[in-house]
Amino acid sequence: MQVIYASEPTPGRPNEDYLVAGPGWVVLLDGATAHPDVDPGCAHDPGWLVRRLGGVLAGRLAAEDGAPLDDLLADAIRAVGGMHGECDLGNPDSPSATVAMLRRRGGRLEWLVLADSPVLLDDGEVRVIQDDRVARLPSYTVEAVRAARNSPGGFWVASTRPEAAYEALTGDAPLGGVRRAAVLSDGAARLVERFGLTGWDGLLDLLDRAGPREVIRRTRAAEAGDAEVNGRGKRFDDATAVLVRF
Ligand SMILES: [Zn+2]
Repeated sequence: MQVIYASEPTPGRPNEDYLVAGPGWVVLLDGATAHPDVDPGCAHDPGWLVRRLGGVLAGRLAAEDGAPLDDLLADAIRAVGGMHGECDLGNPDSPSATVAMLRRRGGRLEWLVLADSPVLLDDGEVRVIQDDRVARLPSYTVEAVRAARNSPGGFWVASTRPEAAYEALTGDAPLGGVRRAAVLSDGAARLVERFGLTGWDGLLDLLDRAGPREVIRRTRAAEAGDAEVNGRGKRFDDATAVLVRF
């Protein structure tokens, strides 16, 4: 299993994406940028959260004790909750992150996807494992997103509630059939999702042929040339693209 990745922040900002990998596993976390008008009840920023979660998850995955991925994530959320000190863990605006994990175990490839960091698997055809709940909210006001975050019928992210781990998409496939896979933060999926310049199979081919840096370079070029920023979210975003070859 060969892992190749690149991660680049929004120009001029700290990177709130975080990647850890080991022999047989990959974890990508994408911290949600804090809204400037919201009090998160927390002294920490999304970068702090993804580094702590990534560190705890790496430690647990390195132990290779066979625990299910959702249990590992629930344990990590609980453990990082204990590192917050005096912060208000009941605040629904506490920093949060997406999680995408791949792990080789026995003859299987396992995945976990929580919120909008998609995983692509190529086992002859390209499959997309994508949690699109955050894209289907009825409203995107600060109040509506707060009410939907980590609540039934809304969307789930890694923050302070361990039970969010069990809302992730999980599954596995025979490893023998999988040629390659990709793990993407939403900022590295924009060539498909925002700009429509290629499809998922085209993005995976580009990643394989030209490498993760080229995927991000083309994403930045598309963002720079995008005149219609208003109403379409952030102009630039942290972008992390991971290629896994088997
Ligand atoms: Zn905190």
